[in-house]
Amino acid sequence: MSATPNYIDNLKKNGDFLSLSRANEWHLDASECQLANGTKVSVHDTGVIEFQPSVKTNKDIVLSSAIHGNETAPIEICDQLIKAIFSGELELAQRVMFIYGNPQSINIDKRFVEENLNRLFNGHHTVDGLAMNNERNRAAKLEHYVSDFFARGEAGSARCHYDLHTAIRGSKNDKFAVYPYLHGKPWKKSQLQFLHSCGVNTVLMMKSAATTFSYYSSYVHGADSFTVELGQVKPFGENDMTKFAKTKETLIALITQNDVQYKEFNADDFELFSVHRSINRTQQDFSFPFPDDAVNFTGFAKGELLATDGQTCYYADVEGEAIIFPNADVAIGQRALLTVVPLEINDNFK
Ligand SMILES: [Zn+2]
Repeated sequence: MSATPNYIDNLKKNGDFLSLSRANEWHLDASECQLANGTKVSVHDTGVIEFQPSVKTNKDIVLSSAIHGNETAPIEICDQLIKAIFSGELELAQRVMFIYGNPQSINIDKRFVEENLNRLFNGHHTVDGLAMNNERNRAAKLEHYVSDFFARGEAGSARCHYDLHTAIRGSKNDKFAVYPYLHGKPWKKSQLQFLHSCGVNTVLMMKSAATTFSYYSSYVHGADSFTVELGQVKPFGENDMTKFAKTKETLIALITQNDVQYKEFNADDFELFSVHRSINRTQQDFSFPFPDDAVNFTGFAKGELLATDGQTCYYADVEGEAIIFPNADVAIGQRALLTVVPLEINDNFK
């Protein structure tokens, strides 16, 4: 039995895939249609929609949002792009798949329902002895849809995946991107140029495997893949969309142009960091010496206190060691703080 029979005609008229996904939180039957300009539309599931233009393409692009449901700005950007594709206002030059990761968490205005989706990728959704839940099932399905999308691409097409988020707290550097661990492969200047065009000049290079969606696409599918943090979390309708104009324009160029020309690479345009260490909460009694609203990338002098975990005190052991994603309320055993140190452009970039 289909939960939403004949939704495709309505969708073709209004392009409102976001509302359709929110009305079908964990499942939507697959369906297809074709737009007047020849673009083939495939709905694979709730929150998962693919557009295949009739022209020859050279990129397979995945744009995901709502991996955390209360991070609304990127959801609004993707909603606008999808509607503009349906209306014919945007003519695609590339294959693109949009993903709203967790529709139920959008509806309840929370980061997640039972479990943080971005801790479940790269196989971490299915663990011996742990019961499945909706988010674990969803992570497994999203991996499948991404695999299938890339597998059906033209041979030789470039693969990219931008997983769009907003941060819980403010950041000294309003927008920043996380470059997943590449296992020794060089970082790409061309990707930094794309990020710069999006208004992102701060990039954090990871140094270990992760459970994130972007790491999955990078590691498993060789995609140029990033977690992109576009600013601070705000409720729907309260985002100042002018702050996201550069990002939206750059994404439009990416999906509607054959070969986008970005500003020439200049190392001075960027602030790069590499991960220094991860501090886990192991005790009930865990605290930070800085206020709750301390922003991401706040730097500390060598020797300054960073965190107290029961009897253990963590001090900055490098001048300028900076904090990212501090969260004293994580479950015991999970990461409470990531620290980073500045990184120079070197031979590891191509
Ligand atoms: Zn997020």
